[in-house]
Amino acid sequence: MKKHNFSAGPCILPEEVLKKASEAILNFNGDNLSLIEISHRSKPFVAVMDKAQKLVLELLNLEDKGYKVLFLQGGASTQFLMTAYNFLNKKAAYLNTGTWSSKAIKEAKLFGDLVEVASSKDNNFTYIPKEFEIPVDADYFHCTSNNTIYGTQLKEFPTTDVPMICDMSSDIFSRQLDFSRFDLIYAGAQKNMGPAGTTLVVIKESLLENVQRQVPSMLNYKTHIDKDSMFNTPAVFAVYVSMLTLEWLKDIGGIEFIEKVNNKKAELLYNEIDRNPLFKGVVNKEDRSTMNTTFVLTDESLKAQFDTMCADAGISGINGHRSVGGYRASMYNALPLYSVQALVDVMQELERNN
Ligand SMILES: *Cc1c(COP(=O)(O)O)cnc(C)c1O
Repeated sequence: MKKHNFSAGPCILPEEVLKKASEAILNFNGDNLSLIEISHRSKPFVAVMDKAQKLVLELLNLEDKGYKVLFLQGGASTQFLMTAYNFLNKKAAYLNTGTWSSKAIKEAKLFGDLVEVASSKDNNFTYIPKEFEIPVDADYFHCTSNNTIYGTQLKEFPTTDVPMICDMSSDIFSRQLDFSRFDLIYAGAQKNMGPAGTTLVVIKESLLENVQRQVPSMLNYKTHIDKDSMFNTPAVFAVYVSMLTLEWLKDIGGIEFIEKVNNKKAELLYNEIDRNPLFKGVVNKEDRSTMNTTFVLTDESLKAQFDTMCADAGISGINGHRSVGGYRASMYNALPLYSVQALVDVMQELERNN
C-alpha cells in the first residue's frame, strides 16, 4: 500500500503524474525513445517547455500581463543570489521570517545595502511580523510567502510601489493570490510542482529595465528570457514532470479548487492539534501555514509510542526539520484528505491509549 506521504520536500506528487512520468522514461510520445535521451531542442521537448510555461501563466492568472516563465537550475537557493545580482543596485528591503529568508538576506548582502524591515527571529520565527515599513527608495522588497521549516505563512502582502520579489517555493499553486502584484516569483519545483532539479521563475519583463550591473550569462534573467529557458540544457525530466503536475492541477479545477481542499486538510489537522490535550501547535494561530503544520507532543515521553503508531499506519515524513525538532506534517497539493484523516486517527488513538 502507498504510504501517507507528509514529506516536506521533495514531496508527494499525484499518482497519475508518476505513472505518466515513468512511461515517458521508457517511451516518450510513442516514439520509442526515452524523454531523457532526446534533444532538448527536439520538437517534442520544445512543446513540453512551451506547455509548461503556458500552464504556469494560465494557473496564476498572469496571461498577457507582461510576464515570462523560466525553468532554471540551481534551486531556489540560486535565486537568493540571482535576484540580488540582477536587481540590487543600492539597497533592498527584506522581511525575515525564517531560515530561507535569512539565507536570501545573507546572499543579498554581497551585492549592496540591506534593510531588514522586520524579523520574527526574536521568537524563533513562530509568527509573521505585520507592522513594518518598506523604504520607498529600495530597489525591491523580498519576502518568503510560506516558511516551510517553521510552519508560518504570509496571509497578507504589503502594498508598496517598490517591486515585490517573493520566494513561493512551498506554497505556489496552493492558494489564490493576486499574483500580478509580484514582479518576480520563484519556487523550487520539488515542493508543490514536480521533482527536484528545476526552479520556476515568473518574472515581469519590465523589471529588466532596472538591471545596472554586468551579470554573467547564466545568472542573468535576460539571457534565459531571450533564449526561452533554453540557453543551456534545461532539466528536461523535471520540467516534464512539472508540466504533468500543472496539467493535473488544471484538470481538477486549478488553484480555486485545490485551495478549498488545502483549507479542508489544514482545518482537519489544526482542529485536532487544538482539541487533543496530547498535542500543541508551535506557531501563532493566525499565521499558521496551510502547507506545513508544525506541532509537538505535550508529553515527550509518548514520542516512541506515537512514532511507532504512525509508522504502523503508513504515515511517513512527519519529523520536524532538524533545526526545530517536534513534528511537521506537510500537506502539499497532491496529499489527499484521507491521508490527513489517517494522521488525525492516530492522534486520537494515542489519546485513547493514554
Ligand atoms: C526548500 C526551500 C528553499 C530551498 O530550495 P532549493 O531548491 O533546495 O534551493 C528555499 N525557500 C523555501 C521557502 C523553501 O521551502
